[in-house]
Amino acid sequence: MTKTIIDFPKNISITEAQEIISNNSIEPSFETIELSASLDRILAEDLYAPEALPRYDNSAMDGYAINWEPENKKYKIVGESHAGYPFEGICQEQEAVRISTGAQIPQGTDTVVPIENIIELANGDIELVIEPKKKGQHLRYKGEEIEKGELLLRKMSKINPANIALLASLGLSSFKVYAKAKLAIILSGSELADYNDINIKTWQIRESNGLMLSSLITKANATLSFSTKVEDNLEATKDQLNEALNKAEIILFSGGISVGSKDFVMRAAQELGFEILFWKIKQKPGKPMMFAQKKIGTQTKLLFALPGNPVSSLFCFSYYCYPMISKLQGQNDSLQKEYGILKENFTNNSGNINFVRASIDRNNRCIVIDQKQGSHMLSACIKDGGFIQVNPGEELKAGERVELILFPWI
Ligand code: AMP
Ligand code: MG
Repeated sequence: MTKTIIDFPKNISITEAQEIISNNSIEPSFETIELSASLDRILAEDLYAPEALPRYDNSAMDGYAINWEPENKKYKIVGESHAGYPFEGICQEQEAVRISTGAQIPQGTDTVVPIENIIELANGDIELVIEPKKKGQHLRYKGEEIEKGELLLRKMSKINPANIALLASLGLSSFKVYAKAKLAIILSGSELADYNDINIKTWQIRESNGLMLSSLITKANATLSFSTKVEDNLEATKDQLNEALNKAEIILFSGGISVGSKDFVMRAAQELGFEILFWKIKQKPGKPMMFAQKKIGTQTKLLFALPGNPVSSLFCFSYYCYPMISKLQGQNDSLQKEYGILKENFTNNSGNINFVRASIDRNNRCIVIDQKQGSHMLSACIKDGGFIQVNPGEELKAGERVELILFPWI
């Protein structure tokens, strides 16, 4: 049997990789959610006020509600209106209702006189000592803040705590948002032990990419729907990839994508019918990254194979996956950047673009390139900072203004 070898782009540039990824992204989906579960979700519809706010005319002060006529100084107290205990009757001329802030304005009254502006008479009536400036003083009118039908929040707004409270005060209890993208993580490597394994063998390493990627998925507002470890074995890798296909729309592999005899991710993906969209990018870290897709009926599943070295996984996810996942959920998909003055010289002598790990020294107002640039050295990424793109042969000079592509959590 002859096998057709389908060729695909290899050793491509970072812009080609970005283009291929953005041209093959999946469509966003939407869901209706309850207000109480909407924090940080992105609206997929404009929201309009279903009712007025305030819902009824109410008092802005503790005092007395009256039907004010300038010639009337004395009013007879006929009842009380407090928040939660409205006055049910109708106030007549020269009558007053004791009222507290936020309480409903009784029928027949049009003005509130603050408590400081009256004196109580011996018979219990009140007399105005300071006249209202105008009719309607100290009233909050129905719809004064928001009218029924008014536009509240535009599509694409991110729901924050104040939004939630405002929507609650208007009784808007459910609405359409961008659905969270479902991601799977498959951690490949026979050397991987659980990070908390107390019987870890001398030749094993503690698995750490899993928690890093799942934290990044949470930061991107997406959902982790499947996570597993797999040994460097073709059949086991295919089994887990099949499982992931059932549970997620975007599958992340960590490790197993280089050219070693024990790297099976490429073969597993091809044997399961994935179309490889590219393999290897002219960059450091993360050169062996692979991107593939598989169409199942009307659905498209995406696969990002990230190299296992922790800095490579972090960079490839941050630079290529994070923007796509953000966009899928209606969020800003541009990489966040900061500019600063470089502390020391740096030259890229390699033939690949180098994304150098650097941190922001806020005290000395400069950007510091970390000494530990190995792609296995995650300690270069623990401070606030990110990556500086340095092109092949480029020499960065101390004192130069440089652009830092921030880690997604900054
Ligand atoms: P690989 O991409 O599979 O060749 O792995 C490259 C390096 O990354 C190796 O030293 C692995 O041990 C390490 N590595 C792979 N997967 C993980 C992981 N999940 N957590 C931490 N290190 C890993
Ligand atoms: Mg490996």
